[in-house]
Amino acid sequence: MRVSSAAAGKNAYSACDFGSGHPQICITAGIHGDEVSGIYTAQRLIAYLRIHPLLRGSVRVIPIVNQAAYAAQSRRDPADNEDLNRIFPGDPGGSPSFRLARSVYDETEDAAMMVDLHCCGGHGLPYVLSVYSESDNIRSLVSSLSLPVAIHSQGTGGQLFVEAGRRRNQAACIIELPSAFGRGAINLPLAEQCLDALLDLFRSQGILPGERQGKPPVLLGKLQDRETPQQGFWLPKAQKGTWVDRGMAAGELNGERIYFESEGFLMSLRPAAFLLDDENWLYTFAPKGLR
Ligand SMILES: [Zn+2]
Repeated sequence: MRVSSAAAGKNAYSACDFGSGHPQICITAGIHGDEVSGIYTAQRLIAYLRIHPLLRGSVRVIPIVNQAAYAAQSRRDPADNEDLNRIFPGDPGGSPSFRLARSVYDETEDAAMMVDLHCCGGHGLPYVLSVYSESDNIRSLVSSLSLPVAIHSQGTGGQLFVEAGRRRNQAACIIELPSAFGRGAINLPLAEQCLDALLDLFRSQGILPGERQGKPPVLLGKLQDRETPQQGFWLPKAQKGTWVDRGMAAGELNGERIYFESEGFLMSLRPAAFLLDDENWLYTFAPKGLR
């Protein structure tokens, strides 16, 4: 393993490189400093690759991209309060976050494939997120990651995976891991599941020996949230991780049935709660995949 440091102003980060040559796969985590399950997974991957030599190609792991945000356990860099994953490809003459974005964008230039590890709300399933309808390369990367489902991103610009795919034709995606509950908590079972998904990617490329162990994800469309304007008592009646039909009961709000409005895959469902006016999310689902 070779470790190198890159600095973007005061915010320096380390990259760990394994093997040499092509194909190169780059794994990043900690673009958002408080998404610790992704950072933990990247550290587990580094530990694994230290004792399992690559058969070919190379892997670059940047386990904590935004060190300043990580130290503060915040999503954004405290120096300028920018969301790093909205400003790629960055700007070498900009504020600290813009300089960091450009540095990371340049560090990942040679990668054929990029997987960026993030965390999302704690009630849902882990998933791959990408613009897989935009390129066969991206679709192939997504299919090599052994997680249950892959969601189509809204494609908001400024995200590393979106810009790498569109500007540099790289196969890039995110893995979203639901967080454990409590500030700083790490979701260990999902971190292990994510590590297995990454190892299957390396096996599928001949970078690590052996056959793939898991299955490709089911390709789904874009996430849609259902909210309610009503305050009240919510009791869920459906099961996350299942297909739901229009007209099926999602749950009860103040004793009234709430029905699904279209068919799709239920990614996340709010547990029983008294809902206040300003926190009225009920469930998140995704329709069938895009072509
Ligand atoms: Zn994130």
